[in-house]
Amino acid sequence: MSYFKTMAVQNMFRYSDHFDRAIDNVRKEKRYREFANITRTCGEFPKAKLHVSGECAVDITVWCSNDYMGMGQNPDVLQAMKQAVEDYGAGAGGTRNISGNTLLHIHLEQELADWHGKEKALLFTSGFVSNEATLSTLGKILPECVILSDENNHASMIDGIRYSRAQKMIWRHNDVSHLEELLASLPLDRPKVIAFESVYSMGGDFAPMKQICDLAEKYNAMTYVDEVHAVGLYGQSGSGVAERDGVRDRIDIIEGTLGKAIGVSGGYIAANANIIDAIRSLASGFIFTTSIPPCLAAGALESIRLLRKSQTLRQQHQNRAEQLRTELRRKQIPIIETTSHIVPVMIGDPERCKKISDNLLHQNALYVQPINYPTVPKGTERLRLTPSPLHTEEMINDMASALHQQIYGNYEKSEFRTNVA
Ligand code: PLP
Repeated sequence: MSYFKTMAVQNMFRYSDHFDRAIDNVRKEKRYREFANITRTCGEFPKAKLHVSGECAVDITVWCSNDYMGMGQNPDVLQAMKQAVEDYGAGAGGTRNISGNTLLHIHLEQELADWHGKEKALLFTSGFVSNEATLSTLGKILPECVILSDENNHASMIDGIRYSRAQKMIWRHNDVSHLEELLASLPLDRPKVIAFESVYSMGGDFAPMKQICDLAEKYNAMTYVDEVHAVGLYGQSGSGVAERDGVRDRIDIIEGTLGKAIGVSGGYIAANANIIDAIRSLASGFIFTTSIPPCLAAGALESIRLLRKSQTLRQQHQNRAEQLRTELRRKQIPIIETTSHIVPVMIGDPERCKKISDNLLHQNALYVQPINYPTVPKGTERLRLTPSPLHTEEMINDMASALHQQIYGNYEKSEFRTNVA
């Protein structure tokens, strides 16, 4: 090799080293994630199959799905989706503006607006995108806008606020006195948006919605609430905590997902017509992407129509969560006390959390993913259990006993063994 060629090789930027280093750092911080190879078996939720090696599959019970009501396997939802594939084909074929708009998208937006008691709704490809696109655009539309963000807000809200380039103020989680302090420090005529979640997904706690709305009115701020973990689950018609707490009219923008309790995929916002029209016209995350496939819109539409009438299912969901909490308390499992459908078990150490999760899966056939940093702060690593109305009492007892064994030792002697199918 010539001298110049050797020098050129030596001075080359080593791309691959940087990727290796990035992965090493994640590993060192004990937050390297591995996927569990799990196949949902339609009609058997919350049962599923874990693929261990090659053809070998093990029957397991899923305890960490966000398909909170099992709607992803509801026969009417499936039928609506199949019919839409027959009628409309597979994909939307374009953005909403360029050939990707169908009657199903329009009907779904009308249904969502009506469900949330708002003038209009707007669909996005996911809940993540709806937060990111809406918050980033709000901050650009409102001059000198300040976005006041709860410190536990989801990554999609944080990204949206960052991309808006608006001034951000973070208030301590659910601390309305701190929120008021920050609001009071701003001029009344300066635009402000209070951004928060109604149910916090990792702690399972509710936002003090009424108090936040009182402050928004007192300080002339807009309210933006992420109801991703509440739509389908709370309120008489299931539209979320804003409905349950009687504050729907006092919330300016409600954001939700079609991917959790609704059981399909996609995201949306619901608000006054002029807000929706402005976001529709200006948000890149809405304009420059293929719209959701018509079959997803059909499935979501059917699912929402069913959920609107399903007060019994909602009650059963809450009962299951309470039964699980009672059983875990009886077995002295360290749960974070909540009154929602999310039951977090505090472990407080990333390696232990992963080990307990691995043992539950491989020794007890119970699947619950460890939740580590950066999803939750370091030292608060946890297992996040999400019982559905379809989890039986027997499943609850199995989980409580297995957790007891895993947390308090003795798990080598586990009587549970997975059944190789
Ligand atoms: N908002 C919150 C609070 C979430 O927990 C999530 C996802 O987990 C999202 C938004 C994003 O929703 P989606 O999964 O539809 O992208």
